[in-house]
Amino acid sequence: MKRTYLYSLLFLKCPQCRQGKFLEAHPYKLSNMNKVKEKCPKCGLHYSIEPAFYTGSMYVSYAVGIAVGVAVFVLTYFTGLAKHPLAIFGYIVSGLFLLMPYIGAVSKSIWAHFFFKYKPKIAEQVSNDSRT
Ligand SMILES: [Zn+2]
Repeated sequence: MKRTYLYSLLFLKCPQCRQGKFLEAHPYKLSNMNKVKEKCPKCGLHYSIEPAFYTGSMYVSYAVGIAVGVAVFVLTYFTGLAKHPLAIFGYIVSGLFLLMPYIGAVSKSIWAHFFFKYKPKIAEQVSNDSRT
């Protein structure tokens, strides 16, 4: 399970070694919300290629938001939790609001995973280093 692409993406790990933390703090720690670390604490990968690198993650965030909205719609409508459009809208808005910090964080993670490749040799080296 560990070191898979999806694990690394969803649990906000370094795209190169899939072990180091990607964010400064937990996404729901609002004072430090979605602040990306300067570099990976395990393999030393610099998370930012250029200034304002993570601005592009806004596009990803939009797509993730739509996906969450559709998921909440399907859940509420087809489980019979709500049938009235306004009630469904309310569920969607609350869902998006509650998940907002995580959506922002996972969008940055997806954005980083677009640009940095997983390097199994570095990952192996890093996990050997931390074992000794
Ligand atoms: Zn790393």
